[in-house]
Amino acid sequence: MSSDSTVDRQEKYQLFVDGEHVDAENNGTFDVNDPATTDVIAEVARGREADIEYAVDAANAALDDWRRTNPKARSETLRDIAVALRANVETLAQLTTLENGKPISEARGEAEGCADAFDFYAGIADKVHGEQIPRGREYVDFTYREPLGVTAHIAPWNFPLSIFARSVAVALATGNTAVVKPAEQTPLGALTIAKIAHEAGLPDGALNVVTGFGAEAGAPLAGHPNIDCVTFTGSVETGRKVAELAAQQITPANLELGGKGPNVVFPDADMDLALDNAVAGLFTMVSGQCCSAGSRLLVHEDIYDEFLDNLADRLDALEVGPGSEDPDMGPMIDEGQYEKVKSYLDVGRKEVGEPFYGGEVLDREGYFIGPTVFAGASNDSRLAQEEIFGPILPAISFSDEQEAIEKANDTEFGLTAGIFTADLNRAHRFARDVEAGGVYINEWFAEGIETPFGGFKKSGIGREKSTEAVKHYTQSKNVCANIGIGE
Ligand code: ADP
Repeated sequence: MSSDSTVDRQEKYQLFVDGEHVDAENNGTFDVNDPATTDVIAEVARGREADIEYAVDAANAALDDWRRTNPKARSETLRDIAVALRANVETLAQLTTLENGKPISEARGEAEGCADAFDFYAGIADKVHGEQIPRGREYVDFTYREPLGVTAHIAPWNFPLSIFARSVAVALATGNTAVVKPAEQTPLGALTIAKIAHEAGLPDGALNVVTGFGAEAGAPLAGHPNIDCVTFTGSVETGRKVAELAAQQITPANLELGGKGPNVVFPDADMDLALDNAVAGLFTMVSGQCCSAGSRLLVHEDIYDEFLDNLADRLDALEVGPGSEDPDMGPMIDEGQYEKVKSYLDVGRKEVGEPFYGGEVLDREGYFIGPTVFAGASNDSRLAQEEIFGPILPAISFSDEQEAIEKANDTEFGLTAGIFTADLNRAHRFARDVEAGGVYINEWFAEGIETPFGGFKKSGIGREKSTEAVKHYTQSKNVCANIGIGE
């Protein structure tokens, strides 16, 4: 068990700007609710444009010192933050379960992952370098790799800790400062990480968190003239708005948007493994509220009926309930999401008839929807094309490899794709031909902080995580000196 000396759950949370907890300029607040009960769990400062202004100024003021800090010292600070986060895993997990609703063991894993991200980028801080370019004896040519400046991070509610950490850690490691606007549903984790990071030695102003709503705080941040990079994770619709705001200022934008991941199962697959992953790939990861989920099941016609029967048995065993009781699935994040996901039960009933499995909302307080499978869905149905972001799985059959890849690619999204097969050649043909930023072979979510993550097509622009993300938080400067040809 951790020491958990740093953080306690509070009833009121302020913004975190310039190393201090401060009220919003107009003293506004909003309530955060527990999605398992709908009860108010905290009152949080409602940041708006003036607060964004204040935070961007603080991040700007901190920039010169932080970017000039010796990379080794920056690395040590990030390492200290990782240690402090690890010491607070339990509290971070409890807060996450409270505000997001996810099962506590999943939240613990996420809190560990948050510390891992700081560790990984601590290791990178002193390894970011340019290159020497051969232009002949007359020239010395080399590049610097410099930070961009003040980075903006607009985060969603489904992974409040790890999505915060993956972009903030690399931004800080590479000498940038940061202003974060967490989702209005889940601001507590972000504020807590910022507090922990500050106490672990991050200078005032290097990391600021302005809580509030998208239009009031997110939009002024995305369009701020003194922001040098925007990282957004969320819906395609909001991503488009963020990209438009950033474009007005010629600010680069990293966008990690939706997905409709095809999970393709061949008859030669290890069936237990494929079934476990069909469940883990959608239902038990934040109850399907996950962009990288396996949210379209493509099963070969020879095993389609048997696979679905076995899937139903597995779903029978899932417990749905409040995250604090550590069930397999928690609630939807809020009423809006609950209503949206519920509406897809009607869409499915119209498109393919009664669900093969489930199709029910739970008769209890909170935003609970049971695991649901619609069999016989066509790949061009709304069920198969639209991102539902909940525990509703359309199952589609295919007859051969060619059809599987065509169906897998027949989507506007391209974030993740997975294949279950014992045939190594087939798995690699799939990986070669599928249009997705991440391909999983025989394990859904086979990825880590070390691996690049991001989307093809409408799933986004840029890559998070891995050393590849370093590119998105730095820019190159070429230096070319004519030194004369000499004797
Ligand atoms: P969801 O994942 O619930 O569809 P969004 O994609 O709209 O949510 O939200 C992801 C993040 O973007 C949240 O922090 C939200 O507050 C923020 N956001 C929402 N609307 C805007 C906007 N117009 N400009 C900037 N940020 C926004």
